[in-house]
Amino acid sequence: MAKHIFITGGVISSLGKGITTGAIGMLLKRMGLTVRLQKLDPYLNVDPGTMNPYEHGEVYVTEDGAETDLDLGHYERFTGDCMSRESNFTMGQIYSSVISRERRGDYLGKTVQVVPHTTDEIKNCIRKLAQPGVDVVITEVGGTVGDIEGAPMLEAVRQMRHEIGSRHCMFIHLTLVPFIKAAGEVKTKPTQQSVGELRRIGIQPDVLVVRTEVYLTDEARKKIALFCNVDAEAVIVEKDVDYSIYEVPLALHQQGLDSLVAERLSLPVGRPRMKDWIEVVESIKHPEHKVRVAIVGKYMKVQDAYKSIFESLAHAGIHHKTKVELVKVEAESLEKRGALAQLENIHGILVPGGFGERGTEGKIAAIRYARENKVPYYGLCLGMQLAVVEFGRHVCGLSDATSAEFKPGCQNPVIDLMPDQANVSAKGGTMRLGAYPCVLKDGTRAAVAYAQKQVNERHRHRYEFNNKYREVYEHRGMTFSGLSPDGKLVEIIELADHPFFVAVQFHPEFKSTPTVPHPLFRDFIGAVLNYARQHGEDTRTPEFVRSCENSATAE
Ligand code: GLN
Repeated sequence: MAKHIFITGGVISSLGKGITTGAIGMLLKRMGLTVRLQKLDPYLNVDPGTMNPYEHGEVYVTEDGAETDLDLGHYERFTGDCMSRESNFTMGQIYSSVISRERRGDYLGKTVQVVPHTTDEIKNCIRKLAQPGVDVVITEVGGTVGDIEGAPMLEAVRQMRHEIGSRHCMFIHLTLVPFIKAAGEVKTKPTQQSVGELRRIGIQPDVLVVRTEVYLTDEARKKIALFCNVDAEAVIVEKDVDYSIYEVPLALHQQGLDSLVAERLSLPVGRPRMKDWIEVVESIKHPEHKVRVAIVGKYMKVQDAYKSIFESLAHAGIHHKTKVELVKVEAESLEKRGALAQLENIHGILVPGGFGERGTEGKIAAIRYARENKVPYYGLCLGMQLAVVEFGRHVCGLSDATSAEFKPGCQNPVIDLMPDQANVSAKGGTMRLGAYPCVLKDGTRAAVAYAQKQVNERHRHRYEFNNKYREVYEHRGMTFSGLSPDGKLVEIIELADHPFFVAVQFHPEFKSTPTVPHPLFRDFIGAVLNYARQHGEDTRTPEFVRSCENSATAE
């Protein structure tokens, strides 16, 4: 029988519950357990696919084509396991299945209520992950204790403890211990109050993970333990990390959270294997080189809008022992005259995915700059479509080339609606979603990077390369290096007479981890590093220069 861990949050949101959940999942997996992770979101959207990046940040796409919460990205990056649509349930989905059941008559004339009907449905969703062979299911409950919206989800997990027995499940509560500058000390009261709120609804946490800016004294830990009714060693301090979120599992491990969980749930396991992860963190802390990559997007001020892309660039940097400095460029800002000067000291340019016309002319200008100046370019989804538009306009002589997304019925829709999208009007979950195979053309940059003939990559789009233009483009020097197995869909384009110009219709950023960086991100950063060196830049970090000098004098 699978054991369950429920992770709740208190005091404020944005404490990094998803990162902590991913880190705990990773520790347990590395102790040899089969772990499944899951996020429950209290909002009423059926999924985040219809929300804009200001509201929700990135929409994370799973292999099986679900549009999910970005925390699933953390789960995959930390554990290296693929999540599925059963790893994310929203209150919108829960209500929608309860209501369809009611319409079918499944409730046999009963009054349908939050308790027990929605709470039962929530419990079903949790149990879906507890398949034979699974040792631990970790369920992160979104939101903050005390929110009206999250109440049915917390009630459901309270009931689960009652049903499966407290020996088989545990509660981990994440809270904040703020440092108050004026008083020169940390305050434990918000944590006490949020645990109080949890206990009021019948949940006693077994472990508290407290987020802090500063180290906590033993005295503060003991005080939290006493007033929150947990063991002192079950107060785990998650101080702000110095370099990277990938330090979090190491910090939790050092404080014995992994063995505490194993003991509490009677899981017969040893210590987690952490060697390669320690190397990852060391490489982040002591990079030998640094490069600058511009991301030209529409939501550069929203921290979470391009989360997986930022992480994937960091993963590629880990591989090359290189710190990738991100220069965030608002696409629209490139539409002004002289604005391309912003890109002068940049060693590589990336245009991410996106929807709608705003900012696309700025992105096209950046792509043209990269192509003409032979600056490494990497385009993702819309970033590929716009590379096609740019090439059409400035190389193939199609001066009005564009995407049908921006100008339906235009003269030269080099990017056009996919045929199976023609009659789709509903917005939720109707794009081409999830993993599809892509066959690589021998000898291309893509084939070399992947070192495979066929790969699977995740998609989220409605438009595609318009095959009417394939011949013209090929004639002008564009290579279609990745196609769907039936040859009908262009999945990867590249230019041969360029140090690195690769753009993909899919989202490789959803398949990169710190220990296994995505091959295309890896080779992009390799090309970026070469470009910087060839342009006379000393890419070495001061620390690396010092260590080289020291070893030279030692000789
Ligand atoms: N808007 C484009 C499409 O729907 C690109 C989507 C994306 O970048 N994810 O095809």
